[in-house]
Amino acid sequence: DHSIGVLALQGDVREHLDALRRLGEDAVAVRRPSELAAVDGLVIPGGESTTMIKLARIFELYEPLRERIADGLPAFGTCAGMIMLAERIEDGIEGQETIGGLDITVRRNAFGRQVDSFEGDIEMAGIDGPLHAVFIRAPWVESVGDGVEVLARVPVDPERGAAAGRIVAVRQGSLMATSFHPEVGGDARVHELFVDLVRRSRAERRTTETKRD
Ligand code: GLN
Repeated sequence: DHSIGVLALQGDVREHLDALRRLGEDAVAVRRPSELAAVDGLVIPGGESTTMIKLARIFELYEPLRERIADGLPAFGTCAGMIMLAERIEDGIEGQETIGGLDITVRRNAFGRQVDSFEGDIEMAGIDGPLHAVFIRAPWVESVGDGVEVLARVPVDPERGAAAGRIVAVRQGSLMATSFHPEVGGDARVHELFVDLVRRSRAERRTTETKRD
C-alpha cells in the first residue's frame, strides 16, 4: 500500500506529517521496523543527527534504514536528516555514522556561531518564485559526487559571508535533502517535489510488476 513515513525518533515530525497530508498523502510516523517496512517513501526530519543515529540503533532501525535506502526507497532528509543521508560528514563527532545513500559531503553546524540560524529567500530548481528558507544550526553541502543534482544554494550576498553560494538542496535519484526546514511556515512546495519523486517511483514499480505478470 501507499504511504509516506516520517522517521519519528526525534525532531519536528508533526509538521512534516501535516505537509504530506495536505498534499493528499497517507503520512505515518515511523518508529519500528514493521512501520518502516510498510512505507514507500520516507522523510527524515531535522533534530540532532548524533542523537537520531543513536536512537535509530536503540529502536533497531539503523540496519533496516540502511537496507531500504540502499534498495531505492525514496527519502527526503531535512537539516539533521540531510546529515543522516550523507555519505560523508565534516565536523561530525568522532566516528559519527550516517545512513548514507547521498554521494555528498556535509559540514555540520556549518553556518557558524554568529549566524547559526537565519532565514531568507532562495531560489530552488523545480519551484517557481522565491522560497522562504529557515536554517537552524544547519549543515551545508561541501561537495557533491557526479550523480548529484544541486537544487539550491545560499544567495551570493556579502552579508552571508562564508555561507554565500553554498549548496543547501540536492537530489540524487530518489533521494533528496535540504539544509533548511521546508516544514516550517506552511509552504508545501518542497514536499511536493518529494511527493512527485515518490509517485514516480510508485509508477515505475507498477510498470515492472505488470511486465512480470
Ligand atoms: N545541528 C544539527 C545536527 O548536527 C542539525 C540541526 C537541525 O536539524 N535543525 O544534527
